[in-house]
Amino acid sequence: MSHPLSARRPTVLLTTSSAVRPGGLHREDAFTGRNYSEGVVLAGGLPVMTAALDPALAVQYATLTDGLLLSGGGDIDPAEFGQGPHRDLGSVDPVRDAFEIALYRAFRAADKPILGICRGVQLMNVAEGGSLHQHLPAVEGTWQHVQQDMRGTPLHPVELSADSRLAAGFGTTSIHTNSYHHQAVDRVGSGLRVTARAGDGVIEALEGESGAFLLGVQWHPEMAFKERPEHHTPFRLFVDALLAAGTTQGLRPDALQLA
Ligand code: MN
Repeated sequence: MSHPLSARRPTVLLTTSSAVRPGGLHREDAFTGRNYSEGVVLAGGLPVMTAALDPALAVQYATLTDGLLLSGGGDIDPAEFGQGPHRDLGSVDPVRDAFEIALYRAFRAADKPILGICRGVQLMNVAEGGSLHQHLPAVEGTWQHVQQDMRGTPLHPVELSADSRLAAGFGTTSIHTNSYHHQAVDRVGSGLRVTARAGDGVIEALEGESGAFLLGVQWHPEMAFKERPEHHTPFRLFVDALLAAGTTQGLRPDALQLA
């Protein structure tokens, strides 16, 4: 499962959040948790982080790198799915939204694998014309999905579709996940199917109906895999798809030794 660090690895473009640095230098930082990168490395990939930039750069990024990992972060601007702001909408970053939607479309057009985590699954859905619940506590009958425990400890059960990539990867249809989201997929975008739901019905994962590997999960596997190895599954499925694509496209002749 873990590959030699010296082996040639498929590259994964990793998106980031932006924020003005509090105190000190007056500059805007681009950042995300380093556990996303560690999850990619453990699966055999090589992460490459990018700031949120001009959407016109997306096509070249989709040529330069082998796969796309849409990381977690703040809320997506509801203007992207034709709604006004709910009164409990969190902070939004239209620059990041536009860049990630362009990246998503460029990697799909290039038939390259994509993994979305938390905000990432929501981004995938919005890019495909779907909508989001802007604030789950306002949706009648939903459980708590913003857990108080900050260590990534599983909070709620999730049921996986038996014929999904996730169920095949986890080797079961019943898992427990952490939960750090107040938004969730509402209307499902085109070409996507729901492959996981929490016990209250909230959508917890989407997969692509066709084309290259496409998986988005609403929980945070990067916060869980060190203590609970089964939660490395989304990273492993993603990088395995990158390795398989590399061998079929003849891009990485040495990937065979990794597979
Ligand atoms: Mn949840």
